[in-house]
Amino acid sequence: MRFDMNLGETAFLLIKEGRKDIELRVNDHKRQKIQVSDLIFFHSLENEYDVIKCQVKAIHHFNDFKQLYENLPLDRCGYEDIASASYKDMYEYYSEEQIREYGVIGIEIEKTDDLYLVDGHMHLEYGPLSVEYVKEFADEAIRKGLDEIDILDHTHRFKEFEGCYQHLKQYDQQAEWLKQPTKFCNTLDDYYELIEKVKKMDFPIKIKFGLEVCYTSNTEDLLKKILKDVKLDFLTGAIHSVNSILYDMSFSKDLLWDRYDKNDIYKMYYDEALSCARSSLFDRFAHPDQIKMFNIYPDYDLTETFNNLSQELNNQNMYAENNTGCHYRYGHEDIGISDQLLKIFKNNNVKLICASDAHKPAHVGSFILEATKRNRGIF
Ligand SMILES: [Zn+2]
Ligand SMILES: [Zn+2]
Repeated sequence: MRFDMNLGETAFLLIKEGRKDIELRVNDHKRQKIQVSDLIFFHSLENEYDVIKCQVKAIHHFNDFKQLYENLPLDRCGYEDIASASYKDMYEYYSEEQIREYGVIGIEIEKTDDLYLVDGHMHLEYGPLSVEYVKEFADEAIRKGLDEIDILDHTHRFKEFEGCYQHLKQYDQQAEWLKQPTKFCNTLDDYYELIEKVKKMDFPIKIKFGLEVCYTSNTEDLLKKILKDVKLDFLTGAIHSVNSILYDMSFSKDLLWDRYDKNDIYKMYYDEALSCARSSLFDRFAHPDQIKMFNIYPDYDLTETFNNLSQELNNQNMYAENNTGCHYRYGHEDIGISDQLLKIFKNNNVKLICASDAHKPAHVGSFILEATKRNRGIF
């Protein structure tokens, strides 16, 4: 069985560096289920996608931390200086009542690996909001060895957001596109109902649910009103249009790329990206350089733009996606974000999450291993 636990930065690094292999916890209901040979995935509190995977070797039970501290080797429990160790240190994390009620455990662990494979972006868009359909995505993810999938349908699936797309209807092609049966066909309650069912089931991988929100600065106020009541695991902000014109459609060449200067399009796109981050509405920013999808590039250097975006994402504690959809869905040569953008994100310590942008189960996990390795500088 797999268990997920969060760890503060100091303990996380000690385990990562092999200097701690006993984790101390109160033996609460969750912990009582842990058995020898189970897996524990420790997530850094600073970046939940920084994960150490461990296997449980032994579980040592004690009445309280005083007894535990007298019996276990404290240098393996996270103490560099054993002389300064006191069982009272654990009161920072647990109350005396909790300790009395549950007792405590020392979980002896062995690090297995630290390559946590998450596909943070996939759509149920072309199928029903059903458990069976989610299972198809999960099965593919398990087949590809992923540890987590994050489902995030577009806001244009949900009736609540219809008003946010009015401005696109000034162009006939976009008005037609919005009339497709996959648009505004469900309510958020339909989505919540599905999520509740899935969360009650036992999947061997983690499944999170969010929304890919089509952000524009013009609709920010409206989005704010709707999103304040939305309760999901995460919200991803995405720029899909500039100046009320979608940039990534077959008709976009006609409406946008042939009519506007490419430098202006890039400036508009990244201005919107900065507003999106500044809005404080989102946990993640989708496909940050998807504007490159037709291989049209500006004449000016994007370094300053990418640095500004990095800064804003960091200010808002947001993750940036390394989204591989551009590669296998649109045939762009980059497997994810460009080397230039990746380098700038890494220099600025922007938190990254990998994403396939799968629109059908078979595409789940596409190039996620490659993207994960690129994020870590492994080529
Ligand atoms: Zn998108
Ligand atoms: Zn998407």
